Amino acid sequence: MFPASDTVLVAAPAATAVFTAVLTGGPVSRVRLARRLGLSSAAVTKAARPLIERGYLHELAATDRTGPGAGRPASPLAVRADREFFVGVKITADELIGVVCDLRAEVRATARRPLADPAVDGVLAEVGRLVDDLLDAVPEHRTRVRRLGLALSGDVDRTTGLVRYSPFLHWRDVPLGQRAAEATGLTVTVENDVKALTAAEHWFGEGVGAESFALVTVGTGIGCGLVVNGRLVSGSYGVAGEIGHIAVDAAGPDCHCGGRGCVEAIAGTDALVAQARERTGRADLGFDEAVALARGGHEGVRAVFTRAGGAIGCGIAAVANLVGPTRIVVSGEGLAAYDLFDTHIRTSFERQAFGAAARCPLSIRPLPFEEWARGAAAVSIQSLVLP
Ligand SMILES: [Zn+2]
Repeated sequence: MFPASDTVLVAAPAATAVFTAVLTGGPVSRVRLARRLGLSSAAVTKAARPLIERGYLHELAATDRTGPGAGRPASPLAVRADREFFVGVKITADELIGVVCDLRAEVRATARRPLADPAVDGVLAEVGRLVDDLLDAVPEHRTRVRRLGLALSGDVDRTTGLVRYSPFLHWRDVPLGQRAAEATGLTVTVENDVKALTAAEHWFGEGVGAESFALVTVGTGIGCGLVVNGRLVSGSYGVAGEIGHIAVDAAGPDCHCGGRGCVEAIAGTDALVAQARERTGRADLGFDEAVALARGGHEGVRAVFTRAGGAIGCGIAAVANLVGPTRIVVSGEGLAAYDLFDTHIRTSFERQAFGAAARCPLSIRPLPFEEWARGAAAVSIQSLVLP
């Protein structure tokens, strides 16, 4: 995070725990918070006081009580969602997608800008313009935004804001956090896009309350964010959850990673297009046309999507068999063709998942690019309490 972590809202462990619990699971009474966090009621009250004074938390009147946390006759604590706003930006090779989110990660404004050139200087200039567009959209945005979250695919060091390698942008060792902080004057977080999306699901989506869960993204790449024992898994060598490079067909096509028969080599967007071209003999066929042909009943192209759904289901079953997550969310821009994948992913998953692992519920849903930007904003929200 840039500038460095003196901008963390709360540093004491009890205050961090209380704020995080209310943010992700509130409104919730002090009694219930104390029980859940293993703190005394007095410790909860003490931890919450500065957060109330600074306007991040407030007490609901007894009659306003809603939600699962409201079990006892005490005023529950809730987050003041409009206390601070956060900008999130997803960087792709040809476009920036931005959102403004409130403290509960609800999207308040969206904007996009095309990227003509993926060179670092050009991208930073466009990020600056996009942030301006978003802050000008509503007057209170400019006064209440202090933080910017950036997300992009590739190997990213969240703690230093360094992009070690981003294949789609052709970047190596770019100090993106520092450069973006200088360009915008905001406190900046940088995270891998799949991990950012996983953070949003973990704190504000289907992953709330799940001890472990997995988010699988289907698109140009096939990615996976893993939360185990309540923590996002980063991997000792910076790699974890690379479901796209699990081999599911030893005799399958070569993968760009150097492996063979990887899920991504069968079900990634480029692989789907290549197979559809082969089946139709049309070298100019694009992804949208392939989807249209499959929906129109073209047997050969339908088979390509059937095979891809099968490969994705096998990859997901491998995650379930290894980690045993509480639930798995399957999403991504590739699932715009949701109807062509859904059944085959589920059938293959149920066949390959071992025993009770097959009981793990799958949520399969498409994902607009704005959700990735929301993930970037969610990481920025997390930086209030996570250095
Ligand atoms: Zn591979």
